[in-house]
Amino acid sequence: MQTDLFVAGRYLPATSGRRFATLDPASEETIGEVARGDANDVDAAVKAAQAALHGPWSRVTPAARGRLLLKLAELVVVHKEELAALETADVGKPLREARGDVDGVVATLIYNAGAADKMEGATIPLGPDVVDFTLMEPLGVTAHIVPWNYPLGMAARSLAPALAAGCTAVLKPAEQTPLSALRLAGLALEAGLPEGVLNVVTGFGEEAGAPMVRHPLVRGVTFTGSVATGRAIMAMAAERTIPVVLELGGKNAVLVFADADLDRLVADVVEGAFENAGQICSSASRLLVEASIADELVERLRARVARISIGPGRDDPDLGPVVSEEQHARVTGFVDEARTHARLVCGGGRPAGLPRGYFVQPTILDHVAADSRIAREEVFGPVLTVTRFTSEAEVLGLANGTGYGLVAGVYTRDISRALRLARSLEAGSVWINGWFIGGQQAPTGGTKDSGIGRERGLPGVRNY
Ligand code: ADP
Repeated sequence: MQTDLFVAGRYLPATSGRRFATLDPASEETIGEVARGDANDVDAAVKAAQAALHGPWSRVTPAARGRLLLKLAELVVVHKEELAALETADVGKPLREARGDVDGVVATLIYNAGAADKMEGATIPLGPDVVDFTLMEPLGVTAHIVPWNYPLGMAARSLAPALAAGCTAVLKPAEQTPLSALRLAGLALEAGLPEGVLNVVTGFGEEAGAPMVRHPLVRGVTFTGSVATGRAIMAMAAERTIPVVLELGGKNAVLVFADADLDRLVADVVEGAFENAGQICSSASRLLVEASIADELVERLRARVARISIGPGRDDPDLGPVVSEEQHARVTGFVDEARTHARLVCGGGRPAGLPRGYFVQPTILDHVAADSRIAREEVFGPVLTVTRFTSEAEVLGLANGTGYGLVAGVYTRDISRALRLARSLEAGSVWINGWFIGGQQAPTGGTKDSGIGRERGLPGVRNY
């Protein structure tokens, strides 16, 4: 297990010598003492990235960059079990999900590898006396600040297109989950990426993240995390006139009409609300149900959720713990407040038989008022709220009634209604009769407070 920073192709302790503990959320025990990077380490990492940008990396052809990313994808496949085990230990997620995350990283690397030599410019017809053309140039040294819910997946989502485009990178994993990114960086070196192309500085937001955004040599920032931190990063980036790509979460509504296929809906919502213990920007967190079928649907969901197994991720249950004590307190705090006015259908607290670890039962709250805190703010835990509606106009108002706008879903057999709503829903993506629809090829991102810019697909590469 690597616990040191990765700068200029070498693992090293922080210059201050300080370290911080990363915990196993299932046992609350320390897994490792990780280097606590600060502005000095960030400076070394950015300078290494700048040297690589103008040195060896500038001489690698786009096609060869693609081949290096393919080689890294191969190494990730070879080390799949090791990476999945690190992710499960650090985040708490079931092993099956962690393996799926590693598969996603492989797909991300392969997609972006293929894009590396396809970033073509254009010739512009200005007239007979002039030849005008555009040239796609790498942005430069890029900073990548990622959250703890998908440490490898979120890192790969922005690193792969940045490297494909010819940029170099400094990555700051979240302080709760630094381990897998450190291992990935070593694999990148083994794959043949020149030293300095990918650097990892572990540490805290103010100490290690902010200095990356402020560093004069950094030319772009990609951030996934909370709205408050996203705004702070955008303000820092504004001081330096550098572009940001921000993905800041969601409060995603699932609109269910009486004519929906409820078998499909139940399966999708249970996955959408409880996968990764609900710690997903695009989770199905708000169920908006046509009143005539609400009682039947809530009962079906309750019966299905009662079968969810809970335990440490390494035992591969359906549901693991949430990531940290702070997150546990936050999620249960939301539920405690909501149950004073809404009906608790199931869950609501710590599961019996798991006295240690940050476990929260899968929870459903019915009759949740649309203006309550739990209906407006992102919970980021295994909690589903249910609110009833009687008309299309009413449900559209409910769905659009939060500050967020990441994804929304519509379940109905009436395709005209589905497409009409898709146009009116304020969300970066609208899914019809399905949840978690997408892939490497499909751009994702938010509107309103959910963020700025698009990731994945070719727009994801053009960011860099
Ligand atoms: P969370 O996702 O836990 O709600 P954040 O959005 O604050 O919290 O964290 C996401 C990532 O942003 C983490 O890697 C964190 O260390 C980093 N971060 C937090 N605050 C800052 C900051 N002021 N500047 C740069 N990065 C930050």
